[in-house]
Amino acid sequence: MRPISHLAAWCCLAAALLAACDRTPPGRQVDSKFPELWKEYSGAKAFEHVRRQVEIGPRPAGSEAIAKAQDHIATTLRAYGWEVEIQSFTATPTQTAGAINYANIIARFPTLHGQPAPRNTQRAIVASHYDTKRMDGVTFLGANDSASSTGALLELARVLATVPALAQQMELVFFDGEEAIVEFEDPDTGSDGLVGSRHYAGVLRGTGRAAQFRFAIVWDMIGDANLGITFPSDSPRAIAGGLLTAAEVLGTRKYLGYASTPILDDHVPLARIARIPAIDIIDFDYPHWHAATDTLDKLSPDSLQTIGQITLWYLHRELSK
Ligand SMILES: [Zn+2]
Repeated sequence: MRPISHLAAWCCLAAALLAACDRTPPGRQVDSKFPELWKEYSGAKAFEHVRRQVEIGPRPAGSEAIAKAQDHIATTLRAYGWEVEIQSFTATPTQTAGAINYANIIARFPTLHGQPAPRNTQRAIVASHYDTKRMDGVTFLGANDSASSTGALLELARVLATVPALAQQMELVFFDGEEAIVEFEDPDTGSDGLVGSRHYAGVLRGTGRAAQFRFAIVWDMIGDANLGITFPSDSPRAIAGGLLTAAEVLGTRKYLGYASTPILDDHVPLARIARIPAIDIIDFDYPHWHAATDTLDKLSPDSLQTIGQITLWYLHRELSK
C-alpha cells in the first residue's frame, strides 16, 4: 500500500468529529442476541498463526512458498468449521513480470451441518492480504506485512465459529497479490498491486453479490508492538466512528488515529469496484515497512488482540441489529 498524497496534517479535530458522529454513547453495553465474544479473542493464539506464516519464509505471489501459506490458511479455516473457496485466476500486473497465477481464499460458514454454505447470508467482509513483497536480494519475511493480519484473521475465524448465527453473516477473505511488482497503481488507471482485491471485487460486482454487503474491513500491518493505527483520511465516517466507539469502550482508544492522507490498499477496490463502504485498519507508521527487518521480534500479541477485539465488538454491534 502507499499514501496517496501529502496534503493534510494530522487532524485530531476530524477524528473527534467522526467519533461524535457515532450515536452509541461510550460505555454503553450492546444489547444483543449474541454473547460478548470479543472477550474470547486471543492475541497469543493469533500470534502462533503469524509465526507459522513467517516460518514459511518469503511468500510472494506465484511462488511455491505461497502455496504453503495458502495450505496453512485453508486447513486452519476448515478445522474451525468454515467452508473454503479457493478463487484462482491469472493476471498480468506488469508486462515485465508476465502472467502470474493467483489465489484468493474465501471462507463462509455453513448453515446446515454437512451442507454447502449459502452465498446470500453474508453481510460483512473482513479481509487481509497473505502475499509478501518480492524483493530482489532481500529475504523479506513480512512478519507485520502480511503475516500479522493473516494470523489475526485466522483467530477471528476461530472465535466467530463459536457463534454460527454471527459467522453466517461474515465473509472472511485472504487476498493474494496485494503487493505491487513495481509500484502501486490506482485501480482506475493501472494494473500493478491490489491484484487479488481487484479480482474479488469484480466478481462481487459481476455476480450481483456486492449489494448484500453493508461494509468491509481490511486489516494490514496490525501487529507492531508499538501499535498506532492510521485510518486513511477518507475513511467512511460511520465505520470509523463505530470502531472508535469500540476502542473507547474497550479502553484502547489511544491506539487509533488518522493518517494525513488517503491510502491505496485492498479496501480501495472494494469501495470503488464493488461499491461497498470499506475501511483499512492499518498501522502505516511502521519503520520496518518493506525492509528485511520486518521480523517477528517487532510484533506483539497484545497488538493483535487489540485489533481483534475492537473489530469483534464492532461486528457484534452491527450484525446484531
Ligand atoms: Zn506491503
